[in-house]
Amino acid sequence: MNECPKCQAEFHTGDAECPKCGVIFAKFEKYQAKLKAANIAPADDPQDARAEIPEDDHIWSSDQHVPKKEKPSLIVVVGGGFIVVCVLFAIYAQLTMPKIKPRDHQRNTPITREEQIQTSFSGWDGSHKKLTELIKESMNDPDSFQHDNTVYWDMKDHIRVKTTFRGKNAFGGVVKNTVFAKADLQGNIIEIIAQE
Ligand SMILES: [Zn+2]
Repeated sequence: MNECPKCQAEFHTGDAECPKCGVIFAKFEKYQAKLKAANIAPADDPQDARAEIPEDDHIWSSDQHVPKKEKPSLIVVVGGGFIVVCVLFAIYAQLTMPKIKPRDHQRNTPITREEQIQTSFSGWDGSHKKLTELIKESMNDPDSFQHDNTVYWDMKDHIRVKTTFRGKNAFGGVVKNTVFAKADLQGNIIEIIAQE
Protein backbone atom coordinates (compact mmCIF):
# COMPACT_ATOMS: atom_id res chain seq x y z
CA MET A 1 0.00 0.00 0.00
CA ASN A 2 1.14 3.53 -0.83
CA GLU A 3 0.12 6.91 0.42
CA CYS A 4 -1.35 9.62 -1.82
CA PRO A 5 1.01 12.60 -1.83
CA LYS A 6 -1.98 14.86 -1.95
CA CYS A 7 -4.47 13.54 0.58
CA GLN A 8 -2.48 10.76 2.25
CA ALA A 9 -5.13 8.18 1.36
CA GLU A 10 -3.87 4.67 0.77
CA PHE A 11 -3.85 3.23 -2.71
CA HIS A 12 -2.72 0.04 -4.42
CA THR A 13 0.63 -0.01 -6.11
CA GLY A 14 0.17 0.48 -9.80
CA ASP A 15 -2.85 2.76 -9.46
CA ALA A 16 -2.51 5.82 -11.67
CA GLU A 17 -4.79 7.96 -9.59
CA CYS A 18 -5.82 8.35 -5.97
CA PRO A 19 -9.12 6.53 -5.15
CA LYS A 20 -10.03 9.27 -2.67
CA CYS A 21 -9.07 12.67 -4.07
CA GLY A 22 -8.69 11.57 -7.67
CA VAL A 23 -5.27 13.12 -8.21
CA ILE A 24 -3.23 11.66 -11.07
CA PHE A 25 0.11 10.86 -9.40
CA ALA A 26 2.29 11.37 -12.45
CA LYS A 27 0.75 14.75 -13.16
CA PHE A 28 0.74 15.75 -9.53
CA GLU A 29 4.48 15.09 -9.26
CA LYS A 30 5.08 17.02 -12.43
CA TYR A 31 2.99 19.85 -11.01
CA GLN A 32 4.87 19.83 -7.69
CA ALA A 33 8.20 19.97 -9.55
CA LYS A 34 6.91 22.90 -11.59
CA LEU A 35 5.87 24.78 -8.45
CA LYS A 36 9.22 24.07 -6.85
CA ALA A 37 11.01 25.38 -9.92
CA ALA A 38 8.87 28.51 -9.82
CA ASN A 39 9.54 28.75 -6.06
CA ILE A 40 5.84 28.63 -5.19
CA ALA A 41 4.72 26.81 -2.06
CA PRO A 42 2.45 23.87 -2.96
CA ALA A 43 -1.13 24.73 -2.21
CA ASP A 44 -3.06 22.52 0.18
CA ASP A 45 -6.43 23.51 -1.12
CA PRO A 46 -7.14 21.75 -4.40
CA GLN A 47 -9.10 24.83 -5.50
CA ASP A 48 -6.04 27.05 -5.12
CA ALA A 49 -3.76 24.46 -6.67
CA ARG A 50 -6.04 24.23 -9.64
CA ALA A 51 -6.04 27.98 -10.02
CA GLU A 52 -2.30 28.00 -10.49
CA ILE A 53 -2.22 25.25 -13.06
CA PRO A 54 -2.69 25.94 -16.74
CA GLU A 55 -5.94 24.69 -18.20
CA ASP A 56 -4.28 21.86 -20.18
CA ASP A 57 -2.34 20.61 -17.18
CA HIS A 58 -5.09 18.87 -15.18
CA ILE A 59 -3.79 16.89 -12.28
CA TRP A 60 -7.25 15.56 -11.47
CA SER A 61 -8.71 12.61 -13.29
CA SER A 62 -12.12 14.19 -13.40
CA ASP A 63 -13.92 17.31 -12.39
CA GLN A 64 -16.10 15.64 -9.75
CA HIS A 65 -13.64 16.40 -6.94
CA VAL A 66 -13.19 20.04 -7.78
CA PRO A 67 -16.35 21.56 -9.18
CA LYS A 68 -15.46 24.03 -11.83
CA LYS A 69 -17.12 27.37 -11.27
CA GLU A 70 -18.34 29.08 -14.40
CA LYS A 71 -17.72 32.77 -13.92
CA PRO A 72 -19.24 35.14 -16.45
CA SER A 73 -16.51 36.70 -18.55
CA LEU A 74 -15.51 40.25 -17.75
CA ILE A 75 -16.33 41.33 -21.31
CA VAL A 76 -19.86 39.97 -21.01
CA VAL A 77 -20.42 41.73 -17.66
CA VAL A 78 -18.96 45.08 -18.71
CA GLY A 79 -20.45 44.95 -22.20
CA GLY A 80 -23.89 43.99 -20.93
CA GLY A 81 -23.79 46.71 -18.30
CA PHE A 82 -22.75 49.26 -20.89
CA ILE A 83 -25.64 48.38 -23.18
CA VAL A 84 -28.12 48.68 -20.30
CA VAL A 85 -26.71 52.12 -19.40
CA CYS A 86 -26.94 53.23 -23.04
CA VAL A 87 -30.55 52.13 -23.36
CA LEU A 88 -31.52 53.85 -20.10
CA PHE A 89 -29.76 57.05 -21.16
CA ALA A 90 -31.48 57.01 -24.55
CA ILE A 91 -34.88 56.70 -22.84
CA TYR A 92 -33.97 59.44 -20.35
CA ALA A 93 -32.77 61.76 -23.13
CA GLN A 94 -35.93 61.13 -25.16
CA LEU A 95 -38.09 62.08 -22.20
CA THR A 96 -36.19 65.17 -21.05
CA MET A 97 -34.80 66.75 -24.24
CA PRO A 98 -36.73 69.88 -25.18
CA LYS A 99 -38.43 69.51 -28.51
CA ILE A 100 -37.04 71.95 -31.07
CA LYS A 101 -39.95 73.94 -32.36
CA PRO A 102 -39.91 75.19 -35.95
CA ARG A 103 -40.70 78.69 -34.67
CA ASP A 104 -37.58 78.75 -32.42
CA HIS A 105 -35.51 77.56 -35.34
CA GLN A 106 -36.88 80.31 -37.57
CA ARG A 107 -36.25 82.96 -34.93
CA ASN A 108 -32.56 82.04 -34.80
CA THR A 109 -32.16 82.24 -38.57
CA PRO A 110 -30.63 85.55 -39.71
CA ILE A 111 -33.16 87.56 -41.69
CA THR A 112 -32.71 87.63 -45.44
CA ARG A 113 -32.16 90.73 -47.57
CA GLU A 114 -35.80 90.64 -48.62
CA GLU A 115 -36.97 90.39 -44.99
CA GLN A 116 -34.70 93.35 -44.14
CA ILE A 117 -36.27 95.42 -46.93
CA GLN A 118 -39.78 94.37 -45.87
CA THR A 119 -39.22 96.00 -42.45
CA SER A 120 -39.38 99.39 -44.25
CA PHE A 121 -42.95 98.74 -45.26
CA SER A 122 -46.19 98.75 -43.35
CA GLY A 123 -47.45 95.26 -42.70
CA TRP A 124 -50.95 96.69 -42.78
CA ASP A 125 -51.26 98.37 -46.20
CA GLY A 126 -47.81 97.82 -47.75
CA SER A 127 -46.93 101.53 -47.78
CA HIS A 128 -43.34 102.67 -47.17
CA LYS A 129 -43.36 103.99 -43.59
CA LYS A 130 -40.81 106.83 -43.92
CA LEU A 131 -42.08 107.84 -47.36
CA THR A 132 -45.63 108.11 -46.02
CA GLU A 133 -44.37 110.36 -43.18
CA LEU A 134 -42.54 112.54 -45.69
CA ILE A 135 -45.56 112.84 -47.98
CA LYS A 136 -47.87 113.75 -45.08
CA GLU A 137 -45.42 116.47 -43.94
CA SER A 138 -45.62 118.04 -47.39
CA MET A 139 -49.42 117.94 -47.58
CA ASN A 140 -51.78 120.83 -46.84
CA ASP A 141 -54.13 118.37 -45.12
CA PRO A 142 -52.20 115.30 -43.88
CA ASP A 143 -55.41 113.74 -42.50
CA SER A 144 -56.71 113.46 -46.06
CA PHE A 145 -53.90 111.07 -46.99
CA GLN A 146 -55.20 107.79 -48.40
CA HIS A 147 -52.65 105.22 -49.45
CA ASP A 148 -53.42 103.55 -52.76
CA ASN A 149 -50.57 101.32 -53.82
CA THR A 150 -46.81 100.92 -53.28
CA VAL A 151 -44.27 98.87 -55.21
CA TYR A 152 -40.47 98.78 -55.03
CA TRP A 153 -37.45 97.67 -57.05
CA ASP A 154 -34.29 96.33 -55.45
CA MET A 155 -31.41 98.39 -56.91
CA LYS A 156 -28.71 96.50 -54.91
CA ASP A 157 -27.32 99.46 -52.90
CA HIS A 158 -30.78 101.02 -52.47
CA ILE A 159 -34.42 100.43 -53.32
CA ARG A 160 -36.62 102.49 -55.58
CA VAL A 161 -40.14 102.97 -54.25
CA LYS A 162 -43.20 104.01 -56.18
CA THR A 163 -46.26 104.92 -54.18
CA THR A 164 -49.65 106.23 -55.25
CA PHE A 165 -52.00 107.94 -52.83
CA ARG A 166 -54.94 110.32 -52.71
CA GLY A 167 -55.17 113.55 -50.79
CA LYS A 168 -56.73 116.99 -50.79
CA ASN A 169 -54.86 119.59 -52.75
CA ALA A 170 -54.56 123.28 -51.85
CA PHE A 171 -58.03 123.87 -53.27
CA GLY A 172 -59.69 121.11 -51.25
CA GLY A 173 -60.06 118.70 -54.17
CA VAL A 174 -58.99 115.06 -53.73
CA VAL A 175 -56.28 114.24 -56.26
CA LYS A 176 -54.30 111.13 -57.06
CA ASN A 177 -50.53 111.46 -56.70
CA THR A 178 -47.57 109.26 -57.54
CA VAL A 179 -44.17 109.61 -55.87
CA PHE A 180 -40.92 107.90 -56.83
CA ALA A 181 -38.30 107.79 -54.10
CA LYS A 182 -34.89 106.33 -53.39
CA ALA A 183 -34.58 104.61 -49.99
CA ASP A 184 -31.83 102.73 -48.20
CA LEU A 185 -32.21 99.16 -46.90
CA GLN A 186 -32.86 100.45 -43.38
CA GLY A 187 -36.00 102.27 -44.57
CA ASN A 188 -34.68 105.86 -44.74
CA ILE A 189 -35.63 108.07 -47.69
CA ILE A 190 -32.48 109.14 -49.54
CA GLU A 191 -34.11 111.20 -52.27
CA ILE A 192 -37.49 112.00 -53.82
CA ILE A 193 -36.90 111.24 -57.48
CA ALA A 194 -40.15 112.39 -59.02
CA GLN A 195 -43.73 113.41 -58.25
CA GLU A 196 -46.65 113.15 -60.62
ZN1 LIG B 1 -5.43 11.43 -2.78
